[in-house]
Order: sequence, then C-alpha cells, then structure tokens
Amino acid sequence: MRVAVACFEYEGNSFSQKIDGRENFEMNTLSYGKKLIEVSENQQIAITGGIDSLKKNNCKILPILIAKSGSGGKVKKEFFLEIKKQILKRIKKLLPINGVYIALHGAMICNELDDPEGDLLRSIRKIVGEDIVIAASLDLHAHVTKLMVSSSDILVGYETYPHEDAYSTGVKAGDLLIKALNREIKPLMVMRKIKAIFPVIGGSTNQGFPMYYVRKKARELEKIKSVQSISYFPVQPWLDSEDVGVTAITITDKNYDLASKISQNIINEMWERRKDFELKSYTPEKAVKKVISNKSKNFILVDAADSIGGGSGGDSVAILKAIVKESKSIETAICLVDPIITRKAFDIGINNSSNFKIGGSIDKKYNSPFNIDALVESFHDGVFRYEGGPLAGMVANLGPSVVLRKGSIQILVVSNSVYEHLDEHFRCCNINIFSKKIVVFKNLMNFRKLLDRNMDHLIVNGTGSTPLKLQDVNWKNRKAPFWPKDNFKDIPLMMDE
Ligand SMILES: [Zn+2]
Repeated sequence: MRVAVACFEYEGNSFSQKIDGRENFEMNTLSYGKKLIEVSENQQIAITGGIDSLKKNNCKILPILIAKSGSGGKVKKEFFLEIKKQILKRIKKLLPINGVYIALHGAMICNELDDPEGDLLRSIRKIVGEDIVIAASLDLHAHVTKLMVSSSDILVGYETYPHEDAYSTGVKAGDLLIKALNREIKPLMVMRKIKAIFPVIGGSTNQGFPMYYVRKKARELEKIKSVQSISYFPVQPWLDSEDVGVTAITITDKNYDLASKISQNIINEMWERRKDFELKSYTPEKAVKKVISNKSKNFILVDAADSIGGGSGGDSVAILKAIVKESKSIETAICLVDPIITRKAFDIGINNSSNFKIGGSIDKKYNSPFNIDALVESFHDGVFRYEGGPLAGMVANLGPSVVLRKGSIQILVVSNSVYEHLDEHFRCCNINIFSKKIVVFKNLMNFRKLLDRNMDHLIVNGTGSTPLKLQDVNWKNRKAPFWPKDNFKDIPLMMDE
C-alpha cells in the first residue's frame, strides 16, 4: 500500500494580531519530502505516530512535507497557498496511491480565506479521487467543519488535555487507515455540533474536570462492535465565526444510526456539564493580595487572557503591574515576549540599569507597555528542548532572551512567543521557579503538572487575546445566540452538521 503522509499544523485565534508566514514555520518545523521522516523520527507528535503505524503495517511511506507551528493568529494567505500547492503537487507526482494521512491541528485560520483545512482536504480529495482513503489526526481543540468531514474518511482527535497523546492519536489514525485500506471496515463519520463554546481552562480531561467524564464515556462506547473511533472537540473558542461550536465525531463501520446516536450522546454529556467549565478567577490585584496574605505556599498565577498556547502574544503586563504596585520584594518570576526590549537590553549591557517600556508590543489592541526601571541581569540564547507534552523532545527557540531584575522580581524577556510546557523556558535562562513566591504562567493547562503541597495556583483574569469570559467578548461574526452568552431551553444543535 502506498500512503502519502504530511503534517500542516497551526492553531488560529481571531483576536490575536499575529499573522504568521514562512519565517514563523521555519523557526518551528518546515521540511519537505524525505526530510519529514528525519525530523519526525522518534518524536511524540501525531505525524510520528501515524508514520510508525503505517510502517508497522508494511506500507510504503510517501513523505510530502511537514509545516508545523504552535498557536498564533492567522496563517498568511500566501504561505497557506504555497504549502497547499506543494502538498497537491507532490501528491499528484506520486499517484497512484492508496491512502493519505495528514496531521492537522483543525483550528487553523487564514487571512482572507475561510476554512483553510477544509479547503486543503477537499483539494486533496479532488486529486486522489473518491476511492482513496483520507485520514487526518486533529487536536482536541479543532474546529471541525462540514467541509472537513465531507472531504475525508477518518478524522481522529486527541483524547487528552493537557495534550499527552498526540503520538497515539497519530497511531490511531494510521491504524484506522490501514483497516480501511484492507477493506476490513468502511468508515462512516457522523458529526454533531452545538451552538456552544466552553472556557478552555476548565476543559482538562483529568479527574475532577467535566471532560474527564466525556473521555470515560467515549472510551466505553468505543468498545461497541463496529464503533471505530469517538472524538470530542470542546473547540478552540477564540475563533470569531458562526459555525464554531463544541463538536463530537463518531466513526463506525458503515453504521449511520449508531454513529449518529453516539455523537449525540457525547454532545449531550458535554452540554450537561457546560457550567462546570467555568472556574473561579481573580483580577490581577486581588490575586497578588491573596498570594501575599498566604504565608505558607508559593503560587502560580495563571495569566489566562494571555495564553501563548491559545494564540496570545505573551506580552500582557497586567499581572506584572499588580505585583510591582503591591511590593517589589515578592520573589517573582515572569516571562514576557518583547523583541524590542531584548534588543534594547543588549545595547544597555549587563549589570546596567535603565528604564524599559515593557510589553504591549504584540497584542496592541489589548495590552499597552509598562514603564519600569530595571537592571539587566543576564543574557541567554533561549534554546531548549521540551521535556514532556505533545512536543516532548523537540527543540524550541525563544530567540535572544534577557533577564531583567526589579527588586526581587525577575522578568524574563524573550523574542518569540513559544508554547509553554512546564518551566523549560525559565530553566534555560537559569531561573529556578521553585524558589519563587509567585510564578506567572501563560498557559491554561500544563501548569497543573507543577502543583503540589507547596505550589498552589490562582486563575487571573487579565488582558490579552485569549479572554477568559467568552460571554463578554466583542464578537463580530458570531451573531446567533450561543452558550455561554445566551441560555437555551433545549440543547442548541447546529443544524448544518
Ligand atoms: Zn489543543
């Protein structure tokens, strides 16, 4: 069996002002042809799992390309079209093939283009024809569209959040593709979607959170004969589009009624638990006061509205301001993205002090700079390797980085907004977060892995392009009633699924 494999992953955010093109993907992962095999070998990402599954089943792997980045705003239209062209051109050249496996995020957005991933899958379908099996793996926060479903045979989402199973999701997609190629199954997908979006921060699949039960139910129902895969997508909510909503997809062996019933069942489970996704949060000022009044524990302050993993710029100073105002003697570590400041600090030089207008240089709509006098403490190259999560083993590049000091506050200023896993970014710049009373994290889930008896957390409702209260967002395109802005008597199904 000849199977074309590709990876094109990016998570969009309509409120972020970032527009990412070639440069951004090159800084992450961008390789063509055989190099895809080299860069993905022994990694924990979905494409590696898919390739390993296909190899195990004696498929001839036909590597197309890998273009993988983290979260941001939009992919530049020209870059999307270029990658699409490369994928189509390379697949065409390799025909005849039996199948296609592509690792996608599922929530990519593009300037001037609707539904880029649906468009890509449809274009692949046009080239390979109706009889070739197309499988894709997706992030749990994918925004799955009708076009994505109608243009593919197999869509499989991550099972966990924090995301720990990118690799096994790739394996699952690969295994199903093989079953379909061997004619053991004829995959039939049914999607259900509702007019609802949930706060990401409450969406963990670990015990104690609503998605734990959804995950459990899905795994139980997957044991039914003929059920091949059940995926749930609580969705990337910061996408300003009418058709974005919490989604379930079931794949059966040609059993429409069963697939439909199960997708409905999973949607019901998520809808019934909708209120549990909302978690208690604090203003920056209240959060800092609460930390100071607690003498025994250290705290992670979760800068929820400026989550880099959700597409934010990582340049909000709302929490830093509150800390400086309250006391400069609280042992603090905070990381901010501001390439202008890193350049300025290099000019000023080590052990010198200066006034810095820090932050607010990326998500300018939400954040403005903060004036602070600080000492330039140390410089770093900002390169590290992820030690866990979906990018475990991969190299990340914060770019030229500088540690500034204001009293007991250490401000790590980096040049690139890079996905936070745990404290790798602090550690590569010699900051030990465990000696701090306050550590500010700009991620919504991975920080939980650091919590213990000595380390507590508070969720902070600050500023940025991943706002916590979805009902208060100034939506432009999302005009129809939706949860949590509007209440519904019955489950609000989208009728176009
Ligand atoms: Zn995700």
